[in-house]
Amino acid sequence: MWLDQYNNLDSRVCLRILEERLKSNFVQKTLCDMENEKKCDIYKFLVDNFCLQYYLVKPIPKLYKKCISKIRLSSHNLLIETGRHKNISRDQRICPMCKLQFGQNTDIEYKYHYILICLKYTDLRKKFITKYYWSNPSVYKLVQLLSANNVKDILKIC
Ligand SMILES: [Zn+2]
Repeated sequence: MWLDQYNNLDSRVCLRILEERLKSNFVQKTLCDMENEKKCDIYKFLVDNFCLQYYLVKPIPKLYKKCISKIRLSSHNLLIETGRHKNISRDQRICPMCKLQFGQNTDIEYKYHYILICLKYTDLRKKFITKYYWSNPSVYKLVQLLSANNVKDILKIC
């Protein structure tokens, strides 16, 4: 009986059902993996339907697209990433700029700190980032800033 059902199905329909099933499994597994991975703490909120991201099809220079991708994917040189490669424990990856210049020793050097908090970049932040993001900063505002559709604001930090 099962074989008869499949024999009557169009092979293209079967292929489409299989493709959708594989995609669904991939998305579920990836979302689950990201939920359990500290490295994806911001990125898991930036993923937009597992499709080509909006900023990648916009007519902007490749260099900017590369910059945006690196920030979004945590492919940067902040201590939160480089410290992982050097086996420095996560809580010891303190921002060297705040530590050296301002005697503060409290915040880990990760995207949120670098873009919205770090004292070293206060002037640059005020010059290039819309006040909404850095006044009363939050991870939610960082996610908004780095979202795939927010090309206008994110280009300012490249
Ligand atoms: Zn800092």
